[in-house]
Amino acid sequence: MMMLTKKMIQIRSLLQTVGQSEQLTLPSIVVIGSQSSGKSSVLEAIVGHEFLPKGSNMVTRRPIELTLVNTPDAHSEYGEFPALGLGKITDFSQVQRTLTDLNLAVPAQDCVSDDPIQLRIYSPNVPDLSLIDLPGYIQVTNADQPPELKEKITELCEKYIQPPNIILAISAADVDLANSTALRASRKVDPRGERTIGVITKMDLVEAERGASMLNDKKYGLRLGYVGVVSKLPSSTGSLFSRGSGNISNAVMKNEDAYFSSHPLEFGSQSEIEVGTKNLRKKLMHVLEQTMAASLKTTSEAIHQELAEATYEFKVQYNDRSLSAETYLAESLDAFKHSFREFSDSFGRSQVRELIKHELDQQVLNLLAQRYWNKPVEDLTIAELEVDALSELPKADPDNQLWHLKLDASTASLTKLGIGRLATTVVANALQAHIDHLIVSSTFSAHPFARTAITEASSSILRDLSYDISDELEICIKPYKYRIELEDSEWARGRENITSVLKEELHDCETAVKQVEAEVGGRKRLREVMSFIDRVRSGQVVLEGDGVGGAGGFSAALLRRGRDAVFLRDRADTIKMRLLAVKSKQCASKVNKYYCPEIFLDAVADKLTTTADLFLDAELLSKFYYSFPRELDARLGRGLSQAEIDRFAREDPKIRRHLDVVRRKDLLEHVLQEIEALRQLEAREKRYTSRS
Ligand code: GDP
Repeated sequence: MMMLTKKMIQIRSLLQTVGQSEQLTLPSIVVIGSQSSGKSSVLEAIVGHEFLPKGSNMVTRRPIELTLVNTPDAHSEYGEFPALGLGKITDFSQVQRTLTDLNLAVPAQDCVSDDPIQLRIYSPNVPDLSLIDLPGYIQVTNADQPPELKEKITELCEKYIQPPNIILAISAADVDLANSTALRASRKVDPRGERTIGVITKMDLVEAERGASMLNDKKYGLRLGYVGVVSKLPSSTGSLFSRGSGNISNAVMKNEDAYFSSHPLEFGSQSEIEVGTKNLRKKLMHVLEQTMAASLKTTSEAIHQELAEATYEFKVQYNDRSLSAETYLAESLDAFKHSFREFSDSFGRSQVRELIKHELDQQVLNLLAQRYWNKPVEDLTIAELEVDALSELPKADPDNQLWHLKLDASTASLTKLGIGRLATTVVANALQAHIDHLIVSSTFSAHPFARTAITEASSSILRDLSYDISDELEICIKPYKYRIELEDSEWARGRENITSVLKEELHDCETAVKQVEAEVGGRKRLREVMSFIDRVRSGQVVLEGDGVGGAGGFSAALLRRGRDAVFLRDRADTIKMRLLAVKSKQCASKVNKYYCPEIFLDAVADKLTTTADLFLDAELLSKFYYSFPRELDARLGRGLSQAEIDRFAREDPKIRRHLDVVRRKDLLEHVLQEIEALRQLEAREKRYTSRS
């Protein structure tokens, strides 16, 4: 018969993993009793180890779902917290410490928590049992305990002692039974005393006769009866058995036997009463098996119903599509790598070239503005405008030695800009931005863990590659730092390109002016303030004061916007003028390079770009395209443990629900199979016992 209990307890544990549900469980034995009634001692005598949290100020704050698993052939005994994944714990003082920590983790203001701690103990010396240890009832709250603690404990116990659970009501013999909180609580939910087992502890503390009469209590008669125990460890064993090792069951029982056999009249075999931890264990096993077997039908009906619901949800919501965390990760990773491959096919040398050229165009424009074009007014205060009388736009003077120096200096600035770093950074940043974009449009977007892993994968590769590549590229462009020869065709291309760059810049300037117009409230208003600024600059108007509080009837803010517009207009004028120059006949040939610095610098930028794009395509792109998918595999594929894969998949609430339904369905089906197997076992045993 004992095989059945074991099986049913296994099924009970399986159901625990399905999730909390009142119907979806098999009954257990719920242990209640006042603090110091000897509740822990009884449980420890049954288990054979001291493992429960102790201490005067230590109340159990969470239920402990204790599953005892008899392992007849095993040599070792150990505990296991299935939810914590700590593995086998053979040192029971370690179990005790863990339980203490878990209890202390419940915030004091919450008093108690109804979230049970699951603890399994495997041993050849324990019976197959499922017990739930609850916080002990307290009479008065200490000063440092919340006042509602007492009530919270009562509520928690009440929740657990509901049918079909069996109640193990612990009362101490040295307290009047009428005052037993445990019995009073059990009577409330089990008035006919049908599922309560009374345990009277500390039998050694009262006269044997009085103790025996307690066990015969008729006032609150219990169908399952009372059992008297002496579960205190004899003090001498304290030294014999060091804490955490050695089984104490025998020592307790020996002590107990000694007590009861010294009072044969009261506790002898003729008396009707039951005493002893050994008998209590037998009784618990028997009652649990009966109760579990009786509940099996209702439980299996409840499981059928749950399964039907899960199956329906699976079909309607998920179209019967099965899913596991592993397949989800593998599919997501494949899809991501696929999108990466598509991207890498579309992003090659010409894209790199465009990026670098665009960057260098900007650098060329800046250099031109610094060295050739008029001084920008943006940095001047209103008051300083007066001194900055409209400077003449520079006129090209190709014969002047200064103009030669100017172009040489500009060219040097461009080639010594640190093109290696600049170009590598621009391309690496673009790659990273593309990866970020790929993440956003992939299933990984809902997974912070994967997002970080991918971003780190790409950024670490790019970082590692960039160091060497910047330096090597810098070496490649070194010759241009000394001498630059241009072909006619290069000149022509530069002319064409700078024309469109200047046009674009002109367009940007004009758009920016329009924006200022809109900001100040119209073109007319902007014209007025601009013409005021022009008059100040040309000396027609003399400012009084520093203009900080405004001037000429314009507010300081408006003057600032006006100054911006003046700058933009002047820049636009310069660009228009330079455009005319670039288009002019003189600029058609490279002989006039000093007259057309824009074209020359553009052609140089173009040469630099050609070197850079070739190099970066070969070094940065191809190496990145090779390493990145491998790094992804390492970080998100093979490299992950099962727990990490699960955690990953569950980050997406949609996937989590899907996985939960699949898991629930599988588990319920599995439990039903187990129950079916149990039924067959039961039937076989019945046939066997009826034959013999
Ligand atoms: P709990 O608070 O209900 O868990 O009570 P404990 O099991 O910690 O026991 C409270 C005190 O009573 C401890 O000092 C135990 O040693 C003592 N005790 C427990 N059972 C017995 C017993 O059968 N006889 C005697 N004399 N003392 C006991």
